Amino acid sequence: MNAVRNPAVRRLADWSAERLRELADDHGTPLYVLDLDRVRQNYRRMDDAFPEAEVYYAAKANTARPVLRALADEGAGIECASAGELARVLDAGVAGSRVHYTAVNPPDRDLDVAVRLADDHPGLTITAGAADTLDRLAERGYDGRICLRVNPGVGAGHHEKVATGADAKFGVPYDRAADTVESAATDFEVVGLHAHAGSGISGEDLSAHRELVSRMGDLAREVEDRGVELEFVDVGGGFGVPYRPDEDPLDLAAVAGATREALGEVDATLAVEPGRYLVADAGVLLTAVNTVKEAGDGVVVGVGAGMTTLARPALYDARHEMRNCAADAESRPDREVTVAGPVCESADTLGDHWLADPERGDLLAIGNSGAYGYEMANQYNSRPRPASVVLDGDDVRMARRRETIADVTAVEPEDQA
Ligand code: PLP
Repeated sequence: MNAVRNPAVRRLADWSAERLRELADDHGTPLYVLDLDRVRQNYRRMDDAFPEAEVYYAAKANTARPVLRALADEGAGIECASAGELARVLDAGVAGSRVHYTAVNPPDRDLDVAVRLADDHPGLTITAGAADTLDRLAERGYDGRICLRVNPGVGAGHHEKVATGADAKFGVPYDRAADTVESAATDFEVVGLHAHAGSGISGEDLSAHRELVSRMGDLAREVEDRGVELEFVDVGGGFGVPYRPDEDPLDLAAVAGATREALGEVDATLAVEPGRYLVADAGVLLTAVNTVKEAGDGVVVGVGAGMTTLARPALYDARHEMRNCAADAESRPDREVTVAGPVCESADTLGDHWLADPERGDLLAIGNSGAYGYEMANQYNSRPRPASVVLDGDDVRMARRRETIADVTAVEPEDQA
């Protein structure tokens, strides 16, 4: 696709401040805004780079229904991480044959739902990462499509908490994988192998990715030699996005080339599972400046969005760029400030930023918030979750209404004294 019409990255500066101010006026803040056209562009770039592969969107990055629908319409399959995601994706109209459910130490309740949904939606694939999960599926009478999640012993990620590949929690140990597949093939229709290194394939160092893919290629050949015919080898997601304005976007063609070379000849289709790459730069989080306080040598800018709205900075020390969208921002001098949320925790800071001198009432936009933003929002401090809107051309659609305090207390029994 034309690089001008579909640039490899959308920066925070590319958003129209005027449109963001209008959205904040119409819907209040904090407000997640997601541009579906950008999601579609990101998918098309991925699909162009991997024309021979199946692209499964990792729904955990953003489960807004319009996103699921738009990506399914583009041709993406969807990867789900829980029974809840599975139910939502199928309910959004995605065909079972385009859905993978990755069961990580699944609770009974999740397996019950998954087996029932697999019955109702033929072609659904369950990815199991432990022999026990296979046994528990068989106990439920499941004999359908299985993909085996393998622990490749290789991890990669922007933070230790997102490097899953070498974490013993995930997947069947590599040296037992071929045996596990062979024995699973007697009870199930084994259709695939899966591994995910973590979140953070970056252009600088593809060695962990190459290593993972090459091990998966070797395993696929071994499994084929043992007479198990695979449909696909899924090498996971983790395609990085530039969170800092001076970072280059990922060279997808280089990643795709390295992937093909490392996989080698296999009699199965390659599958990839991007989450953040498809949605991160399609989203911003809008928040209002509530307080501006000179404190010691610095300035603390208190905003409405905090660690309950956008958890990544507190959870992973993640960096999210910010921009002051005030109408006269360009005429103000830049100033370095600490941006902090409304939660009563010292971890509730969104980092130090150079911003057009913030004033009470200004609107700030927080970049790259389309992935793992709304999804990780929670109600700690009894704080209702924010609203989220989706832009589709000139249309603005509500994806999730703003929660109220009544939503927070709705789960409490009514007869509580
Ligand atoms: N696949 C699996 C199994 C995952 O656990 C994840 C993320 O945690 C992804 C895909 C997507 O990762 P990313 O959003 O970094 O592409």
